[in-house]
Amino acid sequence: MKLLFRGTLYSLCILLVGCKTTKIGQKDDGRIEVSILQINDVYEISPLENGRVGGMARVATIKKQYAAQRPTCLVHAGDFLSPSVLGTLKYNDKERVKGRQMVESMNVAGVDLVTFGNHEFDISEKEVQQRIEESSFGWVSTNVFHVVEGKRKPFTHKGLDIRPYVIKQMHDADGTSLRIGFFGVTLPSNAQNWLYYDDLIESAKRVCAIMKDSVDVVIGITHQEIDEDEEMARQMQFVPLFIGGHDHNAMSVPVGQTRITKADANAKTLYAHTLKYHHKSKKLEIISDLIPVSQAVPFDSAADVLIQRWEQFGNERFAEMGINPKERVTELTFPLDGLEQTVRGGPSALGSLCAEALSFAAPKTDFSIFNTGSIRIDDQLSGVITQYDILRILPFGGKILEVELSGRLAELAIKTGAKTNIGKGGYLALDRISYHSDTETVTFQGKPLDHSKYYRVAMPEYLMTGKESGLGFLLKGNVEIRDVVEVANPEDFRSDVRKALISVLQRR
Ligand SMILES: [Zn+2]
Repeated sequence: MKLLFRGTLYSLCILLVGCKTTKIGQKDDGRIEVSILQINDVYEISPLENGRVGGMARVATIKKQYAAQRPTCLVHAGDFLSPSVLGTLKYNDKERVKGRQMVESMNVAGVDLVTFGNHEFDISEKEVQQRIEESSFGWVSTNVFHVVEGKRKPFTHKGLDIRPYVIKQMHDADGTSLRIGFFGVTLPSNAQNWLYYDDLIESAKRVCAIMKDSVDVVIGITHQEIDEDEEMARQMQFVPLFIGGHDHNAMSVPVGQTRITKADANAKTLYAHTLKYHHKSKKLEIISDLIPVSQAVPFDSAADVLIQRWEQFGNERFAEMGINPKERVTELTFPLDGLEQTVRGGPSALGSLCAEALSFAAPKTDFSIFNTGSIRIDDQLSGVITQYDILRILPFGGKILEVELSGRLAELAIKTGAKTNIGKGGYLALDRISYHSDTETVTFQGKPLDHSKYYRVAMPEYLMTGKESGLGFLLKGNVEIRDVVEVANPEDFRSDVRKALISVLQRR
């Protein structure tokens, strides 16, 4: 690939990355090889699947191994402050953990640069700013702005504005340097009144035009769905690599002369991009390898000490809450697949179980709909299920609402949820109502829904926020929605979907 951008101006936001020593007597040979490591969508600091995969202590080791070979930069493409079981716990009298454990783990693992994911804005404005301040890594955000007293401003990190682009100057042992310009964009799915989202493609193009004379290569860090990445890549063919997040399965998608990559969520894998650049010919070659983060990778000792401390903290807080993370809920006679691609990809046993839990908690309803995106475990469950596993399955918790929907609206929600939303968090699991994918029809008690009738539906409270993909019409005020019932009694199973799920599992 030909050189894309070249020039002589240096930006004020240049960060230096490189080998500590320049070999005496060696001269800049005009050729440089650097590594960009990519993780995305990491919610657990500890390994998963009984310790077999993932874990930030292993990511730390891989970063050190690559950095020993050549200049290396570790990038996180967003989604790390939320959700997690640890994040929901009280840190002290005033605050909850809310991603602090992840920032500390990323600091010790040697993360260099991040952009926001949509889940960064699950936590409060104040908490987001606190987490940014605690981070020792860099941030880049091209399209997300902080709204303060009605004015759009960049978020700040240790007193400085978070920049819409960052230039990293990496240099090798003989003194050859490579200037990589990064931009970072985030999909606007998490609307908060303290956030403003600029158009992703337009803002990315704008900053690329600004930095083009100061860099050798531009890399995009993107947190959006793959079809949005593909559209951006089509319009920005001058960017050779898009380091993507938001999707949870590893993928490498070529679009013309560029490529989008995503690693598996929870650092089960990591992408290692090796960039080979020749200044004279202005040729760039990128080799992208998907690296398993498995038991073959030892824990970095410093990271492991930190992570074990957080695990112990978690166990102590669960005990204070009267939750015994080790307490048995049930023993499964079959494996329960909670992987994201399974629960969001179509009907699944775990999705059905959660929908059944809603019906159990709200037996006077006609049927239940459950957004499978609230299942966050992204892991296989088998054998003994503990209370901790329930928290891992549904870390957000949340109430179960009883809502009256018109037959027309219920049918639209179910068709959107069970067809259009396949692969997304808005994929709906159903109980006591059926969607037939072959005929694309919905039946209730064997018949189509009567559009003129109203049906009583049990659903998680999140579905009535209007924030779910394609289901923005599920919102109080819609004339086809009436009688939204929300319980206050903490003893009622409708007060927390996790209580309902525990009860359903115990009764099996
Ligand atoms: Zn995301």
